[in-house]
Amino acid sequence: MISDLYELIDPLGSSVGLTDAELAHLTRLRHTLDTEITPLIPAAWEAGETPESIRPTLAGLGLVDPADVLGPDGHESALYQGFRTFELSRCDLSVQILFNGQASMFRTLIRELAAPDRAAAWDRKIADFELTGCFALTEPDHGSDVAGGLETTAVRDGDSWVINGAKKWIGNAAISDYLLIIARTEDGIGGFLVPREAPGVQLEKIEGKIAVRMVNNAQITLADVRVPDSARLPRLNSFADINRAMRGLRADVVWTAAGMQAGILEAARSYATERVQFGKPIGGFQLVQEKLARIYANLASTLAMAETLTRGATDGVVPASLAKLFAAQRLRESAALGREIGGGNGVLLEHHLARFFADAEGVYTFEGTHEVNSLIVGRHLTGLGAFH
Ligand SMILES: Cc1cc2nc3c(=O)[nH]c(=O)nc-3n(C[C@H](O)[C@H](O)[C@H](O)COP(=O)(O)OP(=O)(O)OC[C@H]3O[C@@H](n4cnc5c(N)ncnc54)[C@H](O)[C@@H]3O)c2cc1C
Repeated sequence: MISDLYELIDPLGSSVGLTDAELAHLTRLRHTLDTEITPLIPAAWEAGETPESIRPTLAGLGLVDPADVLGPDGHESALYQGFRTFELSRCDLSVQILFNGQASMFRTLIRELAAPDRAAAWDRKIADFELTGCFALTEPDHGSDVAGGLETTAVRDGDSWVINGAKKWIGNAAISDYLLIIARTEDGIGGFLVPREAPGVQLEKIEGKIAVRMVNNAQITLADVRVPDSARLPRLNSFADINRAMRGLRADVVWTAAGMQAGILEAARSYATERVQFGKPIGGFQLVQEKLARIYANLASTLAMAETLTRGATDGVVPASLAKLFAAQRLRESAALGREIGGGNGVLLEHHLARFFADAEGVYTFEGTHEVNSLIVGRHLTGLGAFH
């Protein structure tokens, strides 16, 4: 049976496997997002600033590995992790990145790629947001082609490495203790934990963004930055290592697109039932109902895809690329329909629809652009690589 929490926004029953304990944590998260965090968003979004209270508030909820949700293997269920991402994204994409960039991405990369003793020593601190980090791969001149074009270099010098180069778009860098810098080495590639305040590291906030405005995305310059050999992650020596480490994260972006569409549906439905034109709520007109129904179908199909991907019956990059390109397209359509239902108010932050509309563009581009994911799927279908 679908719980009250998901009665409206999970029409196909993707949430049905959640346990009572998992639902209790998600309910608490929903309440905190709705009452403490959502009211902060319009002003912070307009200012392009991260409210300082968001991370401590979320960290204080103990959402990562609470004892009552751990399975016999000592891990959270993938379904719980997925719905946690769904809840955060239903509130706001920046809020999701402030949480997941740390608790999901940085934590997973350290768990999978750091030396086992460091991974064990850091894991709880990362989960509790006491030790923070971010992932820095993209460069000013290399986005989609970064695997072949990486220009940042790390050169061995005695017991240390000297790093030179630049990174762009790095989310949460300004609030991270460590930047996980991917650099070219003499024998391939390496990942280096560079303290944010190390000499030679310079961070510049990217201004003028139309999406994820509450996340500080940085352009990073690295000039003769020296780190000890122990800063290198021993299990990261190729892009295949990064892909393997991130395998468990591939569904995150699909859960994100589903959660955002839940937020869009709720905001659009609420607006359509309150806004009166021609003597009745606009939700009573057939053309408006058609838009709501289309958002609902998009949400349902994206959520079902997220859940199927999470179940892990298929593995590898093709199903993940297929799901990402589908989810981002559905999200883009839903965001446009929601904004349209808002009319003029649809471009105002106070009704929340404008923010989802702008943030959908971020999802469309990061974690592999629409085109790059299409090329991965196209190569699978034809056997012909069309990247070059
Ligand atoms: C909000 C946001 C947050 C981000 N956060 C991070 C982060 O935390 N860490 C990080 O490392 N990176 C991050 N990124 C970077 C992101 O991964 C890149 O933006 C993405 O990989 C695309 O690279 P690009 O922007 O350089 O676009 P480009 O690669 O320059 O692409 C431009 C356009 O050309 C198309 N294109 C490129 N090659 C081909 C081809 N062969 N065939 C057809 N079309 C092609 C693309 O699809 C796109 O439409 C973030 C980006 C955004 C927008």
